[in-house]
Amino acid sequence: MSNQTEPLSQRISRLRDHFLQRFGRKAEVIVRAPGRVNLIGEHTDYNDGFVLPIAIDRNVLLAAARRDDHRVHLVAVDLDDEDEFDVTAPTRSETKAWANYHRGVAAMLQQRGIDLTGADVMFSSNVPIGAGLSSSAAVEVAAAFGFLAISDQEMDRAQMALACQQAEHEYAGVPCGIMDQFISALGRADSALLLDCRDLSYRHVPVPESARIVVADTGVRRALAGSEYRVRRSQCEEAVRLLQSALPGIRALRDVSEAELQQYEHLLPDPIRRRARHVVTENQRVLDTVAALEAGDLRRAGELLIASHHSLRDDYEVSSTELDAMVEAALAAPGCFGSRLTGAGFGGCTVSLVANEAVKDFVRSLAQTYRERTGRDATVYVTRAADGVGLVA
Ligand code: ADP
Ligand code: MG
Repeated sequence: MSNQTEPLSQRISRLRDHFLQRFGRKAEVIVRAPGRVNLIGEHTDYNDGFVLPIAIDRNVLLAAARRDDHRVHLVAVDLDDEDEFDVTAPTRSETKAWANYHRGVAAMLQQRGIDLTGADVMFSSNVPIGAGLSSSAAVEVAAAFGFLAISDQEMDRAQMALACQQAEHEYAGVPCGIMDQFISALGRADSALLLDCRDLSYRHVPVPESARIVVADTGVRRALAGSEYRVRRSQCEEAVRLLQSALPGIRALRDVSEAELQQYEHLLPDPIRRRARHVVTENQRVLDTVAALEAGDLRRAGELLIASHHSLRDDYEVSSTELDAMVEAALAAPGCFGSRLTGAGFGGCTVSLVANEAVKDFVRSLAQTYRERTGRDATVYVTRAADGVGLVA
């Protein structure tokens, strides 16, 4: 991982130098693809609902130059490792898991009828791995954009995100949703992205300049996250099945309004009732947050983040002692509009909306309170909404 506070221009020139040294020629393109954090809309994606992520100012940088022999020579600077494959027939690597993102992306682009040329490729990132900021989507999207640029091919960005998602499914074996690749491909500076996970329609939503987004890692990961995630998914499916007796037109919890849920919640046994209530109210909170941001009302947006956390804690039951402590520490710190767990839960990170002028004091206070309450050190990332993937040179 490259130094996380190093300026972008310096990272780019280091990558250029490294590329020249390793391949004996200059890079032809440099691509930047960001990680992401979800502001609100948790566990809504697999219910055909809404999410509201931002692309963050941490990213993968990828340098590439064309080769005429259909080979890809790939260097992962941060891992000090290399890989090589035939771009026309990429297989999964059994030994280098990290290379499967590039191999998978190359395969999925070609499955969509895009001819790729060979390339020398080198990449490095300051998106922390496994911290909840989706380093993997940033790698995939950088790879896709790099392959397309070097091959003189164009592709719709939403389609590119879908190819990256499929690469993660089939080559990395991770059954992820579409949000991470989508925001890394389509993010916009100073904007969040409202994404409808049913039809992938989207809209950019301004995030007021006076706000910063702070991600705080609890440092705790729970092993049961995967199995509990599957339980939640099946509980949502069960809720839909039970509600269909009264609401035959629904396909997913996305189709159920708050009023309908109140009317028919007697059809649902606990805890299915509370799971459904989280999803239905969370979808509405995403739309309400969009309205608040568009009105420049950070206080209202913050209240909705807090309501989301309470719903995830009490109704969806995916919080943890550490996540609750981190949210409480944030709410007690100066300049905080709101805070909640982000990601699937059971550990991982919180996201807070913070007044720009208070952000230094906020971070100091957050880390100190969290340490007092849990005896643990928080890792804190201050960020703002950045552009999606693009060429930097
Ligand atoms: P995250 O939540 O950060 O996306 P994942 O487990 O989904 O975590 O993806 C992390 C994997 O992505 C790493 O194990 C590695 O294979 C790949 N990856 C991410 N960043 C880098 C990097 N800087 N260099 C090489 N591989 C990377
Ligand atoms: Mg990932």
